[in-house]
Amino acid sequence: MRPSLLDPLFVPVTSLDGVGPKVATLIEKVVPADLTAREARAGDLLFTLPSSIIDRRNRPGIALSAEGAIVTLDVRVDRHQPPPRGNRSVPYRVFVHDDTGEMALTFFHANATWLERTLPIGEHVVVSGRMEWFNGRPSMVHPDHIAFADKAEGLPLVEPVYPLTAGLHAKVLRRAIGQALARLPGLPEWQDAELMRRQTFPSFADALRRIHNPADPIDVSPESAAWRRLAYDEILAGQVSLALVRANVRKHVGRALQGDGVRIKALRDTLPYRLTSSQEQALTEIDADMAKPDRMLRLLQGDVGSGKTVVALLAMARAVEAGGQAALMAPTEILARQHFSTIGPLAQKAGLNVAVLTGREKGRERTGILDGLENGSIDIVIGTHALFQEAVRFRDLAFAVVDEQHRFGVHQRLAITAKGEAPDMLVMTATPIPRTLVLTAFGDMDVSRLTEKPAGRQPIRTVTLPFERYDELVGRISDALAEGQKIYWICPLVEESEEVKLTSAEERHAALRQEFGLRVGLVHGRMSGRDKDEAMRAFKEGKTRVLVATTVVEVGVDVPDATIIVIEHAERFGLAQLHQLRGRVGRGSKASTCVLLYKPPLGETATARLSVLRESEDGFRIAEEDLKLRGEGELLGTRQSGTPGFQIARLEFHADLLEIARSDARLLLTRDPALESERGEAIRVLLYLFGRDEAVRLLRAG
Ligand code: ADP
Ligand code: MG
Repeated sequence: MRPSLLDPLFVPVTSLDGVGPKVATLIEKVVPADLTAREARAGDLLFTLPSSIIDRRNRPGIALSAEGAIVTLDVRVDRHQPPPRGNRSVPYRVFVHDDTGEMALTFFHANATWLERTLPIGEHVVVSGRMEWFNGRPSMVHPDHIAFADKAEGLPLVEPVYPLTAGLHAKVLRRAIGQALARLPGLPEWQDAELMRRQTFPSFADALRRIHNPADPIDVSPESAAWRRLAYDEILAGQVSLALVRANVRKHVGRALQGDGVRIKALRDTLPYRLTSSQEQALTEIDADMAKPDRMLRLLQGDVGSGKTVVALLAMARAVEAGGQAALMAPTEILARQHFSTIGPLAQKAGLNVAVLTGREKGRERTGILDGLENGSIDIVIGTHALFQEAVRFRDLAFAVVDEQHRFGVHQRLAITAKGEAPDMLVMTATPIPRTLVLTAFGDMDVSRLTEKPAGRQPIRTVTLPFERYDELVGRISDALAEGQKIYWICPLVEESEEVKLTSAEERHAALRQEFGLRVGLVHGRMSGRDKDEAMRAFKEGKTRVLVATTVVEVGVDVPDATIIVIEHAERFGLAQLHQLRGRVGRGSKASTCVLLYKPPLGETATARLSVLRESEDGFRIAEEDLKLRGEGELLGTRQSGTPGFQIARLEFHADLLEIARSDARLLLTRDPALESERGEAIRVLLYLFGRDEAVRLLRAG
């Protein structure tokens, strides 16, 4: 049960003054909480933190106020000049003065009665807003604040600026947040006193008050002690709940997956290559997990081309040997089919029955697959999101693999695990996520890493080329084609909403067809599934030798004899994405080239990005650089500005706190596994505050 002292924060926002259902809907767009299953509460407003401030401390006097500056002025009201009758396009002007000069306060579509009341002639008032100079005359259009001088102390000289959404007035939001703050009850301190001293953390309540009522721009910086305190609260709540969930998972499930090794041997015998020692190492770790009655939750991290698929296949074979079924989920249809076409033949030779299920299988075919999964005649299924569908039932799903995990949410991870009796889980990612991010994005998983590439690979030569040299490039491509090489030509995705007109894949395809005729193929996201397959197959088999593509080929696509990749508008892509794209070549034994075609002039970040890529092929190094250049949200392929899964913590500022929180949480739970000590009780409050109470429920379930 939720500690009752938190009740005042768990009321709907509509219970605040000035917040009706309409404003509540707008507020729901700005509070950082996940509101899919509930309405916004007063407490959510506390965590809606300002992104900047408006500094109104500048009080230069009228004549010395610079154009465009935000100023606060002490003035006396001289006269009102309403617009001529019937002409609403002329503004209402109120003339005021101070020691330095005169100015107009300008109001469009003004309410005269209100202005007469707010700005009576002869009154001494304080106004704050943006200064505008027009033909040598100063004015302030719609001041943000107007107050009588003797009541002006309430005027916020440092004003927090919150994220806004259309229709939501800053004042309304500020007022609602103020009310939420006022409702904040006295709470026990859940943080360790020694840590607080060392980090100079204020209390939870003080931290919130300081950020929402800043006295200085520093106060709303993520680096301030107040913000760090809240970030630490949030991170600790996350770490404690992850640790509780994990302890629970470990305790409850028990199933050792172990077989006779016959199929695995058969598979290994059919492989046309030897596994690298990293692959062997990862398999040893996976095997050990599977053999244990505990549930496996392991991340397989391997740079593009490091050979994750075969590791997954061998692990799936083990699950089948142990009498279960296995599922492999891919983020795109292309990828699912590619896995099917590489894994299928190998697996078949080893006596495994493999099927593919995507949105495309319909009617009889689909029914046949669903039956096969339910009666157990299908050992391994490869698919897309379609595997999450209600109708998909397994006889005994013992092992689930999720490829390129960052495209799937935790939610979907749970959806697939729910289809079996706590199946072992292997998550594969080619995004070389730094360790700190693994912990936050994936939770406390075990990690195996493929640190080497299969033998015989040659480094990829990466060059940058300004778009002016397009003709030259086409000449080089022509030579390469004469030598029998295969070329990817990547164009940025053109979204309909995109205001900048970029060369679309279609246009590039048409242009290259002019040069090279039917040897040029095209694949993009808006094509039908079958057309996409057809385009990929034609390229793989060599019927087409230049494949113009959008980023649909970004993840995982494997055509080992492609040796050149041209990335058009390279400046538009993120570093991680460029690295992924480049990884489409250099997969065979021949030397490969990546051409980053860009439109000058390049901005500073874009220049830095492209040079990192030119200098390095090491995915981990690139990821670290990416983190520095962009902030980690985008690294994971999300659009949100903050760190995924967090409302307050931002890893580019608070990564150091993560390690501290991990050991803090671990120590806490070793000493007090049921959270019954004084600190344990306070930690429960923390878990509720940050919506991590599902972990508290686990405590009760025992
Ligand atoms: P990724 O880790 O990017 O998913 P893949 O699993 O697609 O990489 O493997 C990339 C390519 O390397 C494939 O063509 C695969 O057949 C090949 N491959 C995998 N392991 C080895 C190995 N040990 N030796 C040689 N080639 C390998
Ligand atoms: Mg892959």
